[in-house]
Amino acid sequence: MSNNNLYQLNCPHCGKFININVPKENLDNNNTSMVWSDENLGNISISNTYKNSGSFGAYEAMDVEMICPYCSYTFKSTVHSNHSL
Ligand SMILES: [Zn+2]
Repeated sequence: MSNNNLYQLNCPHCGKFININVPKENLDNNNTSMVWSDENLGNISISNTYKNSGSFGAYEAMDVEMICPYCSYTFKSTVHSNHSL
């Protein structure tokens, strides 16, 4: 079992696929802004983390601001991950 939340997005500038792996403990109890330092992607600003769960599983979303590792374009995006129970 992974203790990470995997978020996936595309850079709006170059279109490359980016995976963000954030350990769950970094997201729990963090409803305000924080900076996650990813070993591959550098600093990622995280805000507006959101969680909901129900019979469908768990849904988590957050806003990120980061620099694309491929083209160095700075952008903001909302990312989400779904977990089935
Ligand atoms: Zn890019």
